Formats: sequence, C-alpha cells, structure tokens
Amino acid sequence: MGASVITVPAFASARDGVRHFFGTKSHAERMALDVGVPVRAGDARSRGWVLSVKQVHGTAALVVDRPLTDEDRFEGGWDALVTDQPGVTVAVRTADCVPVLVYDRRGRAVAAIHAGWRGAVAGIVPRTIELLVSRFRAVETDLRVSIGPSAGPCCYEVDEAVLAPLRSGVPDVQGLLHDDRGTKARLDLKALVRRQVTGLGIRPEHVTAVNLCTICHDDLFYSYRREGRVNGTMLSGITLVPRR
Ligand SMILES: [Zn+2]
Repeated sequence: MGASVITVPAFASARDGVRHFFGTKSHAERMALDVGVPVRAGDARSRGWVLSVKQVHGTAALVVDRPLTDEDRFEGGWDALVTDQPGVTVAVRTADCVPVLVYDRRGRAVAAIHAGWRGAVAGIVPRTIELLVSRFRAVETDLRVSIGPSAGPCCYEVDEAVLAPLRSGVPDVQGLLHDDRGTKARLDLKALVRRQVTGLGIRPEHVTAVNLCTICHDDLFYSYRREGRVNGTMLSGITLVPRR
C-alpha cells in the first residue's frame, strides 16, 4: 500500500503480531470494497480478508469469531468490528469521524472503531474495549490503542445540536471545547476518545494518535465538513498476523 497509508510504529510494528493502517484519499481510491462483503486480500505469503460494514453512528460491534468465506454477507449496521481471526482485516470508513484501532498485545483480538461525536458520546469506544475484555479475556494493561486522523479542534466547529448532548452526556466537557462561545465551540473529539480509553485503565503511554486534521489536509483526506458532501471516505484497518 506504500505511502498512501499512515502507520504508527509506536502503536504497532511487525513484532507485535499485528498490521495496521490509517488510509488516505489515494488509498481509498484503490480500495473499492463492497460494504458487508468480505474481500480477499494479501499476497501468497499472507492471504487474508478485508471486511468493512455499513456504519450507522451507533454503538454496536460486529464480532467475527470464525473464519470468513466468499459466501458471507453482513447485512446490518455496526460501528465497530472485532475479530480474533488471524488474517482478517477489520476496517472502518471515516471522513471527519475518528477511526480507532485496538489490539491485545497477547494476540487475543483486534478491533476497528468508527467514532463520530454521536457514537463517541454514546460510548462506542469504551463499549468495544469492554467487549475485548469480557469476550476475549483481554487485560486492559495489554491493550494498545491508536486514534487516527479526524476533524481536529483547529477546525471542527459544532453548534447547539452537538453541544447540548455533549454537555449532558460527558462529564467535564469544558476540557474538550476550544473557543467556547456558548452556542458554538470547536470540539476535540480525539481528546474525548483518549479520555474514555484511559478512563478504562489503559495506560496513557499505550494510547497513540495521528495528530492530523482531515479538514486542514485537503491533500491527504476527504472531509465532509470541508467539502460539504460525501466525496469519499478513508479506510483504516487492523489485522492479527497469522502465526507461522
Ligand atoms: Zn484543522
């Protein structure tokens, strides 16, 4: 995939048993996936699948805990995908929302999460991490989290429609708002996700972020906010590497 994706070596490298990427515009143009349909991917050395599904700004996670087949169709809406299957890349699509990738250092499972303000306030990130713990016996201190490119506090102005649920649903919201003028402010969505993750007992040094704003970087990213319509979305994903 070359330079068309962003990887975070401090989050995960080859020796951690996972592969990951945060996609850019040019990568998205080459990855025309059907939503809900697993697509074969990889080379002769590492065959596998890529799966993304319809996203609905909710808090439900799709768990893929068996091998995929060409016949599989995932018809429904999920904003997080979790798998313990080596070779299955779970992927989410974002334009200004936050892509969040998670893995268990002991190789039990990986997760890809799509967190817009609505899903973030509703707790999709903590819910998915709790699923890794309850269903796959992951331990918080073994979890690693990376927060991808999204609308940044430099640009992401929100109004009452977002501020009202934020103020009622998120404790100490003031620390997430820049230039708060009462009915308008700029929201730091990445900071909200980071706070939720560390609040679960994941160590701050185990949470990395790509501090790029999708609204600022026209060259790299699609942005619904900047473009005023959906021209495309970036794909971000994570894979448990099959053990040889
Ligand atoms: Zn910006």
